[in-house]
Amino acid sequence: MVEYDAVIVGAGILGLSTVYHIKKRHPNKEILVIDKLNAAGQAATAKSAAAFRCLFSSKTNFLLADSSAEFYRYVQEDLNVDLKMRWVGYLWLFNEENYEKTLPVLRDLYKKGFTYEEYNSDELAEKLGIRTNFVDDEEAQLMGLGNAYKGIFIPKAGLIDVDLLVKFYESEFLRLGGKIQYVTKAESVVVEPGEPLEIPGEPYFWQDANVVGVNTNKGTIKAKKTMIVGGAWSSQLLDSLGVECHIKPKKRQIFSVKANTDALGKLLFTKGFNDVGCLPFTILPNPSVLIRPVLEENAFWLGYADEFPRAFKLEEDSQPEENFYQYGIYQVLVKYFPQFFGCHPFSAFAGLYAINTLDSQPVIFEENRLMVVGGASGSGIMKADAIGRIAAALYSGDEYAVLHGGKAIKVSDLGLKNRLVEPEKLII
Ligand SMILES: Cc1cc2nc3c(=O)[nH]c(=O)nc-3n(C[C@H](O)[C@H](O)[C@H](O)COP(=O)(O)OP(=O)(O)OC[C@H]3O[C@@H](n4cnc5c(N)ncnc54)[C@H](O)[C@@H]3O)c2cc1C
Repeated sequence: MVEYDAVIVGAGILGLSTVYHIKKRHPNKEILVIDKLNAAGQAATAKSAAAFRCLFSSKTNFLLADSSAEFYRYVQEDLNVDLKMRWVGYLWLFNEENYEKTLPVLRDLYKKGFTYEEYNSDELAEKLGIRTNFVDDEEAQLMGLGNAYKGIFIPKAGLIDVDLLVKFYESEFLRLGGKIQYVTKAESVVVEPGEPLEIPGEPYFWQDANVVGVNTNKGTIKAKKTMIVGGAWSSQLLDSLGVECHIKPKKRQIFSVKANTDALGKLLFTKGFNDVGCLPFTILPNPSVLIRPVLEENAFWLGYADEFPRAFKLEEDSQPEENFYQYGIYQVLVKYFPQFFGCHPFSAFAGLYAINTLDSQPVIFEENRLMVVGGASGSGIMKADAIGRIAAALYSGDEYAVLHGGKAIKVSDLGLKNRLVEPEKLII
């Protein structure tokens, strides 16, 4: 039986970025990626809103997101691979209370050279045609909606075409000699003793044991290193080994509404924020419903990342819930943006966040020749390149990973034993 240098379970954006960076550093290693689906990036990666931002308070988040966005810019501008990056910016609306809480963080970031622009409620009303105040609206008060007191515009943020990014990593990995096998499901992880004694049921607790591959629907694949990069499904394989990855699945939904009235067309192509001449990726004050412009579809994507009591639940084919739009997102949205009155989604989709329940930042660790990469918690696209480089550094036995642009990050900072990540204060 062939023994690979590494087998990677999962051809999502994190699996692909990881193998691309490993193969680039180790061109002679035999690397095989498997995925149970029939093409790359078809799970959470395909369901993402494909937005990125580089303004974070946490040093860890900033390093991961900023270096990844700069790498994507390099791919697009220097390698001439069109990723359809659009620097539309993020527009974050705040009520009085959250603005006061966020102001010191923003001032601190400003001193460190981060740029942002601030808009007051009159400017927001004029630019966007929104309602900013609900003093006379009992219904809005009942719903606990926050006033749009201020808007913070972050210019270093935008949108990317995730399919094109997936294709870039996949084709580069294949070009470097990597192999990918689709429709191949890892059913379990194979563990063997370092020195087999042919005792029934080994390895026993007194034996050294390591992961040596995976059993799949197409047979056993042996490898010197096995990596689980299975997104929300990772714990399915890891729980049976007693390996805790702290990754849990949670459904997220996106509803698409056409800009098919004059008022919505004007909103979609709002001028004055960015060079693209469109509405930025916009986050409402409270609750933080998201509005993502989709220029190629003349549409908006609308979403909300609900927490309590949304279950941690693994689903093979997550479906959007009509009521989540009708009684949830729509009711909030239309209070701020009357332009959406009467709008129904023309399509919708849902996928799973792989949430790291420790601190919502990625986990990258190894034990017994098993590597685990995941838990990007809703920001895996914007951090994928850096995560792949850190995983490749761990594979190579390096203490530090060098990110695009030259900054370094200690590999163990994202591990479990000596984890050191700064908590994020700018949470959407
Ligand atoms: C609705 C939604 C909106 C989002 N918006 C954004 C955004 O705007 N910006 C952003 O940065 N991020 C966003 N995200 C998060 C982002 O999509 C994820 O962080 C990222 O795609 C995770 O990549 P992954 O490779 O870890 O997981 P996945 O893309 O889920 O890939 C895991 C792969 O592993 C395979 N797999 C799992 N188990 C097995 C097995 N046993 N055998 C074989 N194959 C297996 C799966 O088939 C899958 O292809 C969003 C996510 C959702 C759901």
